[in-house]
Amino acid sequence: MVDLVVRGGQVVSPAGIVTAALAVQGGVIVAMGEEAAFPDAREVIEAAGRHVIPGVIDPHVHLRAPGFEYKEDWATGTAAAAFGGVTTVLEMPNSDPPTTTAEALRVKQAVAARDAHVDYGLYGMLGQDNLAALEGLARHGVIGLKCFMGNNPIGHIDDGALLEGFEIAARLGLRVSVHAENATIIERRSARLRVAGRHDAPAHLESRPSVCAVDAVGRVLAFAEATDARVHIAHESCGDTLPLIRASKARGVAVTAETCPHYLLLTADDVTRRGPALRVNPPIREAGHAAALWAGLADGTIDMLATDHAPHAVPEKTGKNIWECWSGFGGLETDVPLMLTEVQRGRMTLPQYVRWACLAPAQAWGLYPRKGVLQVGADADIVILDLEREATIRGEGLRSKSKITPFEGLRTRGAPVCTIVRGRVVMREGRLEGQPGWGRMLTRTPA
Ligand SMILES: [Zn+2]
Repeated sequence: MVDLVVRGGQVVSPAGIVTAALAVQGGVIVAMGEEAAFPDAREVIEAAGRHVIPGVIDPHVHLRAPGFEYKEDWATGTAAAAFGGVTTVLEMPNSDPPTTTAEALRVKQAVAARDAHVDYGLYGMLGQDNLAALEGLARHGVIGLKCFMGNNPIGHIDDGALLEGFEIAARLGLRVSVHAENATIIERRSARLRVAGRHDAPAHLESRPSVCAVDAVGRVLAFAEATDARVHIAHESCGDTLPLIRASKARGVAVTAETCPHYLLLTADDVTRRGPALRVNPPIREAGHAAALWAGLADGTIDMLATDHAPHAVPEKTGKNIWECWSGFGGLETDVPLMLTEVQRGRMTLPQYVRWACLAPAQAWGLYPRKGVLQVGADADIVILDLEREATIRGEGLRSKSKITPFEGLRTRGAPVCTIVRGRVVMREGRLEGQPGWGRMLTRTPA
């Protein structure tokens, strides 16, 4: 007798799609293949006509607690993940207190342990003033480090601290995820635009031209090569950076990169039309960048997808003055339906999607083969998809506290209908079934 059998589904891996059943015992996959040979199960989930993928791993989310619970908290944010087919989130350190020390990490750990519906890893901050704290963060189990180069409410790091931080991260074996934009170009440009009376939405993109990304990505790659640090380019928006990343990979630099649905599916024209709701850093760029990003995914320059789930309260996203609006928006609930819609359109295959959404992040942060794959011995993080399920994205229908989405009104085809975390159903047919506190903290295993 096992706990659970998921039967009859089309099981997807980067290598292809096979009809197979999965047996789960104690939160782990214990058998996979022909169901005839399986033991009886306490629960059987029928997946005939459906596709079955490993739980999606989102390596870039902001759940806002502690400190900004009015925007999001761990219960609402990880419930949104469960609805969205995301079974593991890697959470960013720009909370209050920011995750700059082992003490701050403990504060966040307590919140997450109480509230999380899905599994999680916690980033520590690599900041201007906390280099001495990085070893303590590593010892207490951060999944990786996050570093802000661009101008950001939390400040930005200078080149000296960045290089030294990479040296320390290399020694500790932690991957550094970097927000790679040039802060001082942005500061001067935005000041000039404000003085000129520009406060329209397109002025935000004008303040952050492509060279901001090209320069910062170039420095990250040079510093990574000099220090042997493992680095990760967060939320790449700019096609002009891809030749740099490609060349560094060819020289053996340990760099991975992510892009997000809003950079793949929207352009600056959408920002002009829809206004501040679409403000995000780095900005959604001119037509042409998205095609380069898709090509970068296809040729392996970009390794994976992330949402950069960054919720804000409605008034923070709806002002008239672009400079007074916050950057970012939610994405955990819309990511999988949007990407499945692109699968249906033929922009990618389902096995490619599983590589970019499940396998690649598991490998980059030392979670593979426990996560990111459906095979015997892996955690039973399982998402059942209905590729024909149609819906219209509506901010008001989101479970996240933030009801603003840049994809308002978009039609989707394909959706997660059941999300299972370590053998336990946390979402079934649009109903939350899990309990806060089920999610567990993940630490990286050295490669
Ligand atoms: Zn972010």
